[in-house]
Amino acid sequence: MPSPAELTVDLSALAANFRTLEKVGGVPVHPVVKADSYGLGAAACARRLMNEGARTFFVARTREGEALREAIGADPTIYVLDGCAAGRADRLRAARLRPVINTAAQLSEWREAGGGACGLQIDTGMNRLGFRPEEAPGPFDGLELVLSHLACADDPAEPMNARQRDAFAAAAQRYPGTVRSFANSGGIFLGAEYAFDALRPGICLYGGGPEGRPDPRIRAVATLTAEVLQVRDVPTGETVGYSRTFTAVRPSRIATCAAGYADGVLRSYSPEGRVFVAGELRPIVGRVSMDACAVDVTGLDVAVGDRVELFGSNRLLDDAATAAGTIAYELLSAITSRVPRGYT
Ligand SMILES: *Cc1c(COP(=O)(O)O)cnc(C)c1O
Repeated sequence: MPSPAELTVDLSALAANFRTLEKVGGVPVHPVVKADSYGLGAAACARRLMNEGARTFFVARTREGEALREAIGADPTIYVLDGCAAGRADRLRAARLRPVINTAAQLSEWREAGGGACGLQIDTGMNRLGFRPEEAPGPFDGLELVLSHLACADDPAEPMNARQRDAFAAAAQRYPGTVRSFANSGGIFLGAEYAFDALRPGICLYGGGPEGRPDPRIRAVATLTAEVLQVRDVPTGETVGYSRTFTAVRPSRIATCAAGYADGVLRSYSPEGRVFVAGELRPIVGRVSMDACAVDVTGLDVAVGDRVELFGSNRLLDDAATAAGTIAYELLSAITSRVPRGYT
């Protein structure tokens, strides 16, 4: 029996997106499975991606790496983007995780613990993590991969993209024989000069478009549905929900659905949000509350136990995100542990 709110993950769509990205980029895909694969479940996603040939994964945190190692076995390579914080080297080594070294302090930490295989991040303009090119260390033992990250890959017209690419190409020349990884999802679609040796996509694997809007080349992977708990008639002039932000301007049928902000349905889903119900897109009305949201189903044949789709193949993730004033990344990673994940 399905749960009140449920996230369904289509693993064949995930696999199809993996193959699409590999084809567009023309070099191996190293999936980014941080934040539990953007909320979809890193163990299940990584296993499916291994079936497609993925052998190297990226997570953000050591803890995520440890859990992934447990789930996928000893062979695959796992990089930890946070790198090697003070006192962290032993845990990284115990789980055979490779830190992505971001600072001189991380490099000494790793080396003093015995070193070994690791990556190196060059910051080519994002000013987030990694060495400025002029401050980066020379080649050292154990260095297997150099990476940099685009700040504006979702905007092909942004001139910073080419500047970052050129800065990365120049910086990477210092490390012959290492794998150069540059393109995230958006970067893969910027052209062959952005591919280097290995791609590092996240969101496009999970069904988000490379430019923050639906893209026909990317298949929907995640579907969030909620059960209708109650259907009521609301007379003209009455209001719905906390703070009475919605007033019925006609006799209305309102479905109370089992998805609220404690499930990860952000309060900003209203007032612009829509759900797919009984073959139509219908507005979320009033405030999203902790366990429920209200949908105007006037004129539709909707009954208790029916399900509404908050995003999925009928209400595309990027459209849902835009309506909620955010991005697909946040919409997916906001889904809480209260929502069971199901896999098809
Ligand atoms: C999250 C992340 C990615 C994946 O980015 P997408 O835009 O989801 O493809 C790649 N590289 C780094 C360093 C990241 O932090």
